[in-house]
Amino acid sequence: MLKWLTELIYPPRCPGCGAAVEQHGQWCPQCLAAVWHPRRINRTRAVPHIDGCYCLADYRGTMRNILHRIKYDKALRYAASCRYVLDRFPWPERLAHIDYVVPVPLSPEKQAQRGFNQAELIFRPWAEQHWLWYDALQRVRPTTAQWQLRRQDRAENVNDVMELRPAGSVAGRQILLVDDIYTTGATMEACARVLKRKKAAGVTGLVIASGAI
Ligand SMILES: [Zn+2]
Repeated sequence: MLKWLTELIYPPRCPGCGAAVEQHGQWCPQCLAAVWHPRRINRTRAVPHIDGCYCLADYRGTMRNILHRIKYDKALRYAASCRYVLDRFPWPERLAHIDYVVPVPLSPEKQAQRGFNQAELIFRPWAEQHWLWYDALQRVRPTTAQWQLRRQDRAENVNDVMELRPAGSVAGRQILLVDDIYTTGATMEACARVLKRKKAAGVTGLVIASGAI
């Protein structure tokens, strides 16, 4: 009844062009095709602790808009549009070895201000269909927003701000590290470095979008 009422008031619409679609979160084929770009960002010197990072879309157009609306306007309904993209991950067999799905954490101040971690909002319902969700990491001090920094300062900014939560353990586990956006990879690398230092067997990344690569 509630679902019926909600759909009557807010019929499902494509997040890009507003065309009517069948279910909430769904994109029309044209708008999805405009940003859909699944790929694997391989291990580079910039991110030596990540054993490859999967990315599903380009960070532009509708994709950029909805990630922005989630974070800065609290337009949480767009998380369903991100999960629609996630449900189309083309290589599920490559994630068959994963034990834990771990979100990139926000600082406590940022999380309190925003009210949620967008990585959790987007990924958790999807992740829990297949693996254990494990909020294993925390930031120990706030950092200047990454976008305010020059590229070379970004890695430095997140250095040593990530740590494993007290009593946490990832030893011998295969980790899927998830975040909304991959820019320089500095934040994911800082997380991966901690996980590997704590003896994680492997750290694979997965993000919704990247404009960098
Ligand atoms: Zn559309």
